[in-house]
Amino acid sequence: MKFTENEVAELVKEVVAKIQLETPQAEAGIFDDMNDAIAAAKEAQKVVRAMSLDAREKVIANIRKKTKENAEILARMGVEETGMGNVGHKILKHNLVAEMTPGTEDLKTTAWSGDKGLTLIEMGPFGVIGAITPCTNPSETIICNTIGMFAAGNTVVFNTHPAAVKTSNYAVNMINRASVEAGGPSNICCALRKPTIESSGVMMHHKDIQLLVATGGPGVVTAVLSSGKRGIGAGAGNPPALVDETADVRKAAEDIVNGCTFDNNLPCIAEKEIVAVDSVCDRLIKYMVEEQGCYLASKEIQDKLVATVITPKGLNRKCVGRSAKALLKMVGVDVPDSIRCITFEGEKEHPLIATELMMPILGVVRAKDFDDAVEKALWLEHGNRHSAHIHSKNIDHITAYAKAMDTAILVKNGPSYAALGFGGEGYCTFTIASRTGEGLTAAHTFTKSRRCVMTENLCIR
Ligand code: NAD
Repeated sequence: MKFTENEVAELVKEVVAKIQLETPQAEAGIFDDMNDAIAAAKEAQKVVRAMSLDAREKVIANIRKKTKENAEILARMGVEETGMGNVGHKILKHNLVAEMTPGTEDLKTTAWSGDKGLTLIEMGPFGVIGAITPCTNPSETIICNTIGMFAAGNTVVFNTHPAAVKTSNYAVNMINRASVEAGGPSNICCALRKPTIESSGVMMHHKDIQLLVATGGPGVVTAVLSSGKRGIGAGAGNPPALVDETADVRKAAEDIVNGCTFDNNLPCIAEKEIVAVDSVCDRLIKYMVEEQGCYLASKEIQDKLVATVITPKGLNRKCVGRSAKALLKMVGVDVPDSIRCITFEGEKEHPLIATELMMPILGVVRAKDFDDAVEKALWLEHGNRHSAHIHSKNIDHITAYAKAMDTAILVKNGPSYAALGFGGEGYCTFTIASRTGEGLTAAHTFTKSRRCVMTENLCIR
């Protein structure tokens, strides 16, 4: 049998990926005990503190490079371990993190000079940061957090999601190896072999942790904000996409379904439901079904979906981040691969609409006019102040919606992922501090403000 050059290259790539998935590597930055992890990160921070910005950038450049090289491995590992998401989209997410997470250039100095001398506000590190990460974007969040925190001169200890330990620790190991290879220390980020709620408690109350950063649902954000330490809380959302009578309805259908189905709806910013004004509602659903691969669920299928995806204890974890095809299979419906989303029209209180599902299920709520649509969207966002999206050509409507929703992110006339820098301007982050107000976090978020004052001299105007 003869193989072409391309076939051989593909085969080699597959075998290397398999070996890397199956072979445990030396685990740089991985510990059994939270106290040991914090001690190691503290030692590493002393080295980082003394590194020049240029030296930090060399390390960050290598983390970016390794992330791109490992994007497919991390994507496959994440999907295999958590059962959530889509490999192709996860590769895109890792490349986005590698290319668009800000580094040391994000640290800006403010200066005043005058007759009385020179005063600077410098952005200095906190020290060792304790961070908690979700299972929905495990390695993406770890890489993004570490680049920003390290750029600002910190090191970080992660208490990762127990359901994503393998993927998270692969990323931690990769980052530390990248640091050492580029002349930095190991343990710039640390994590545990078996993270638990108890180890998270140790981290939250440890004297050497200066700042806590929680990325996850409401429980963890509340826990961090109750710790007595300074906390940055990147919590849950339930982003509505509003479509008004001035929208390009056909494009809105395309953008909304693209955003909703990205990584099977795992991103916290992704469209979770639609509110459409009456005059365009039918047309929007028609485009979604006829052109965007949406399956129109009957009342019977909606009821079966409710019973399957929502349990008395909350979401059925086996359904989170699954494809529309897989979800429909669970309720006895076989659909072709071209179906990528499930839709239906319902009241805002419908459990598949009001709940943050993190699945490609996109209920449509009909509103009598724009004001009614805003009211419904506001109710559906549940006061998270996280993300909301709008499709409209009316500037007054866009402004009124933005003010009413008061969210950290508001995408106009595009898919939600434009807010992550994917097809939109601006940098990328996977920690959106909705609840505590820092918004899209980056290196500057992980700094302390320091005023440096020189009297009499250094004004040379
Ligand atoms: P989750 O809340 O179940 O878990 C997140 C992390 O918090 C995990 O590491 C978990 O072990 C830990 N945790 C949970 N409760 C805790 C507690 N009481 N004390 C200490 N640690 C605790 O969330 P998930 O399913 O992994 O992620 C999905 C959720 O996260 C969604 O609600 C989504 O909107 C949100 N999210 C928000 C952002 C953002 O940037 N705002 C980003 C990603 C995910």
